[in-house]
Amino acid sequence: MVEGAEPCPFCRGTNLSCRPEDIDGWAAQVACHSCDAVGPLSEFKYDDQQEATEDAVRMWNRRQ
Ligand SMILES: [Zn+2]
Repeated sequence: MVEGAEPCPFCRGTNLSCRPEDIDGWAAQVACHSCDAVGPLSEFKYDDQQEATEDAVRMWNRRQ
């Protein structure tokens, strides 16, 4: 479960993860492990992993 993330819009699953990746700065996307759906990548590259995660969670929630 990812803090602040809504359940998966496709399967309503809550088996989610959000792993920040260092791509010239931190970016992240939420992934569902029940149906393999992935959310949008965070909009910007961040200096901080936590900020990238929060952005990815916002974008994931926006898709409902
Ligand atoms: Zn799902």
